[in-house]
Amino acid sequence: MSAAETGRYRLGSITERVALARVQVAALHAELPRWGLVVWTAGNVSQRVAANPEAGPGQHDLLVIKPSGVTYDELTPEAMVVCDLDGNVVDGERAPSSDTAAHAYVYRHMPRVGGVVHTHSTFATAWAARGEEIPCVLTMMADEFGGPIPVGPFAIIGDDSIGEGIVQTLSASRSPAVLMQGHGPFTIGSDARAAVKAAVMLEEVARVVHHARQLGEPLAIAPQAIDVLYHRYQNVYGQRPAPMAATRVEEGA
Ligand SMILES: [Zn+2]
Repeated sequence: MSAAETGRYRLGSITERVALARVQVAALHAELPRWGLVVWTAGNVSQRVAANPEAGPGQHDLLVIKPSGVTYDELTPEAMVVCDLDGNVVDGERAPSSDTAAHAYVYRHMPRVGGVVHTHSTFATAWAARGEEIPCVLTMMADEFGGPIPVGPFAIIGDDSIGEGIVQTLSASRSPAVLMQGHGPFTIGSDARAAVKAAVMLEEVARVVHHARQLGEPLAIAPQAIDVLYHRYQNVYGQRPAPMAATRVEEGA
C-alpha cells in the first residue's frame, strides 16, 4: 500500500470525513445547553474538514456548522450544514447559522484553527458588554488561556468585520477566546471539541472573576508565573496549537 493509499485508508474519503464531522458537531452542540452557555437557538459550533489532510489546511477545506434557528433538541447529524470557506452551502437542507461568515473568515485566515464556537454565555457576555478584558488572576486562566481574555472590536453582522475582529485579536494573543465588544465570546481550538472546552472554561473564569470583583480587587498573577503555568499545562496535556488531523496521525505513527 502506497503512502497515499495508507493516508486515504486512515483518514477516510472527504465524504466519510464530512459524515464524521456531522456526527461530532451535532454531539458537541449538546454541550452548550448542558453547560448553561446558551438560551433558545443562540450559539453555534463548527469544525473544519480538511480537503486534503495530508497537505494540511487549505482554502478548499469545508466546514460543518449548525443550521440557523433550529432548537437544540433537533440538532441531528443530518441537520448540520456543510459550507465552503466562503460560507456557501455545499451540502445540507437548511440555511446555515447566521454566524457562518465569521466562522468561515476565521478558518480562511487562521490555518491552525480546526474548530470555532460562538455563544452569548452570561458572564463572558457581561464582560463583553463593558468592553473589559478578563484579567489573568487564576491559575486555571494561565493554564488554559495563557493570559487575560482579550476584547475584540464592536462589529455587527453583515460583512467580514466580525471575522476580522476575531482574527486580529486572537492573532495578537495566546488566548483561544475573544470577547467581541457588546456581543459575546468566540472561541477557537484545534478541533470543535477544543473550541467547546474553551467556551466552557471561559464562562467559568468569567463567572469566578466577576464574583471576586464584588468583594475587592482580584490579584494579578505575575507574567513569569503565567508563562510557567501555560507552558506546563499545554505540554502536559498536549494541547499545542495546530495539531491538525493529518499531523496527529503522522506523530502517532
Ligand atoms: Zn452572537
